[in-house]
Amino acid sequence: MLRITCPHCGERDHAEFAYGGDATIKYPSLDNADQEAWFQAVFIRKNPRGKHSELWQHVGGCREWLVVERDTLTHEIFSVTSARVLAEGGQ
Ligand SMILES: [Zn+2]
Repeated sequence: MLRITCPHCGERDHAEFAYGGDATIKYPSLDNADQEAWFQAVFIRKNPRGKHSELWQHVGGCREWLVVERDTLTHEIFSVTSARVLAEGGQ
């Protein structure tokens, strides 16, 4: 069982969170009509073993989107950061 420490709400069970996918995907700009670039960004995913950045939303709490650095093998969580704070250039 995963325990995720939300920066706003504290440590909670993962059942309060919804998985949002790979946090490392870089989407093309909205004015980019290159179908291959969109295909790669939307459908092609890696299946990493080890440390990985993932998006999770705290749907049972503050509803904040979070970037969770987690080991996909051991489920150890290394860091939890607000995606909004990261997008604004913070840590
Ligand atoms: Zn929260």
